Amino acid sequence: MIQVRKLNKSFGELHVLKDIDFHVSESEVVVLIGASGSGKSTLLRCLNFLEMKNSGDVLIQDKEIDPRKEDLNKVRQKVGMVFQHFNLFPHKTVIGNVLEAPMQVKGLSRAEAEKAGKALLEKVGLADKANDYPSRLSGGQKQRVAIARALAMKPEIMLFDEPTSALDPELVGEVLQTMKQLAQEGMTMIVVTHEMGFAREVADRVVYMHDGKIVETGPPAELFDHPKEERTKAFLSSIL
Ligand code: ADP
Ligand code: MG
Repeated sequence: MIQVRKLNKSFGELHVLKDIDFHVSESEVVVLIGASGSGKSTLLRCLNFLEMKNSGDVLIQDKEIDPRKEDLNKVRQKVGMVFQHFNLFPHKTVIGNVLEAPMQVKGLSRAEAEKAGKALLEKVGLADKANDYPSRLSGGQKQRVAIARALAMKPEIMLFDEPTSALDPELVGEVLQTMKQLAQEGMTMIVVTHEMGFAREVADRVVYMHDGKIVETGPPAELFDHPKEERTKAFLSSIL
């Protein structure tokens, strides 16, 4: 679904991603872990071209994406993203948030977009909040709206950047449950998270990053219980 070859990204003098080789297969759930500053967000942002790589290749569904030649809005439709801070439009209702992109970007009629949008709100358990404004919702509900909004573009892959890090602890579970359901339906996902329980239960593979490099990757049981690299061991013992 996504393949990355020798990806490098610098911000000025700061070399943030160093020869990253990485791939995600269809319906695979990959959890990306690593210390703050290791480059996780930058990697996700390079995958949907919110950041531009300096060198290397990004292939989506076997097609190399050249940002100078592609319509990046089209590419971004395939790659949905959910952020730590939900970034909902505050002046739009819940359903308005979900409708916006399908109508503006895909040119769907309001009726079409609304039908699909309501089904998505149903799926994330928020059908009854369709006409509320985001300010009336809890953080967990806002994040579920953000997930529905991303899904409204019918992406092929979903990227989650610490989707539960800004939530009160009692609200984390409902968002992880929504993500788990999505995984079970076969969505291809890359998830940056510190929720190791989620990683163990839902991930097919865990990727550990340190200082802009992928240090180790493996199934959760292997990587968490029998890490091979000293770096991975040190990181895991610092968080567990
Ligand atoms: P992580 O998500 O793993 O915490 P990031 O990808 O956010 O790490 O950041 C990796 C490094 O890149 C950090 O040192 C960060 O300060 C730097 N960085 C990230 N975005 C920018 C930017 N837009 N400009 C300059 N430096 C950045
Ligand atoms: Mg980050």
